Amino acid sequence: MKSGRLTHISNELGILIGSGFSCDLLDEAASRLYILDVLHPDGYFCPWCRVELPKNSKAYQNFCSGQLVRCPACSKKFSGRTGTSLAKVKLSYREVMAFCLLYSLQVSIKEIASHLNLSLRSAYGYRDRFFKKENCL
Ligand SMILES: [Zn+2]
Repeated sequence: MKSGRLTHISNELGILIGSGFSCDLLDEAASRLYILDVLHPDGYFCPWCRVELPKNSKAYQNFCSGQLVRCPACSKKFSGRTGTSLAKVKLSYREVMAFCLLYSLQVSIKEIASHLNLSLRSAYGYRDRFFKKENCL
């Protein structure tokens, strides 16, 4: 009865989500590092000139901490969000993580908007940004 067990787990997650779930339950730094690795699986590069940020450099540390970085080669500024589906997204990394988790659990957009204090319009916009095939994280 594997499918019965899955339904049971799914119901328990539904109860968890329903009882005051908040992105405050997620760690911002851990969410940021996880998402940066998803967005940049081949390493951290300048989106303009493709120079890789050397590990243990100040630029690399700033990139990992979500700050703007000046490229050591071309001097243009960028962050881990530049040139990705998170460009110009005003959500924190843990809010992005919470959004994606809730959406993956098939929580309605209306409920996600409520959990994250978003307008319905913004929530639909983020859904399209994060989950349309061509924009997938
Ligand atoms: Zn560059």
